Amino acid sequence: MTDCLFCKIVSGEIPCHKIYEDKNCLAFLDINPVNLGHTLIVPKQHSKNILDINDKILREVIIVVKQLSNKIKKNLQCDGINIMINNESDAGQIILHTHIHIIPRFKKDGFKHWPSKKYKDGEAESFVKKIIEF
Ligand code: AMP
Ligand code: ZN
Repeated sequence: MTDCLFCKIVSGEIPCHKIYEDKNCLAFLDINPVNLGHTLIVPKQHSKNILDINDKILREVIIVVKQLSNKIKKNLQCDGINIMINNESDAGQIILHTHIHIIPRFKKDGFKHWPSKKYKDGEAESFVKKIIEF
């Protein structure tokens, strides 16, 4: 994709702080980290997001996510890790090239959990039906 920022990072046209690279994946520091060490893993082959990525590539990418998460946890001595993927603009996806965020978390970093809702009577069952229906 000629006009994709992460494709340009993959091709080297735009620089990054590289953490890891193999045949199919590249990992680099997020330019505006939630916490320092916040890393992005991208497949080298362009896809928009997790909804359209090639399954074989996804398997490889997710293994790298696991390996780098363990490395980040050990070497940055963080207390936990958030692994996050935003899919589609309305879900917060700004860069339309699949990427997985690895965010180191610390006991005292002060971040809160997402807001949550409750199901009314019968609503959970109807959502199960809706979700699994083809
Ligand atoms: P998302 O909202 O999931 O699309 O996240 C896009 C992420 O890309 C944000 O966290 C940005 O800080 C990060 N980002 C944008 N431009 C760059 C860049 N040139 N190098 C590294 N990270 C970037
Ligand atoms: Zn791209």
